[in-house]
Amino acid sequence: MAPQRKKKKMPKVCHECHKVVEGEVCMSCGSSNLTEDWAGYLIIIDPKHSAIAERMNIDMPGRYALKVR
Ligand SMILES: [Zn+2]
Repeated sequence: MAPQRKKKKMPKVCHECHKVVEGEVCMSCGSSNLTEDWAGYLIIIDPKHSAIAERMNIDMPGRYALKVR
């Protein structure tokens, strides 16, 4: 079995709340201000007990980017 070499498309990230967005509009804040220029994949499962989530003002579980340029 040969490994598949499909090029993965970079998901977009919301500029406003750093959420990883699938589609054209952020489901979290409704912004369409998205970017593909981001770094650091962050998965928040329990925002109420996560120091990173608190620091980034995240109150919804989901996938986020650490840095958005
Ligand atoms: Zn957003």
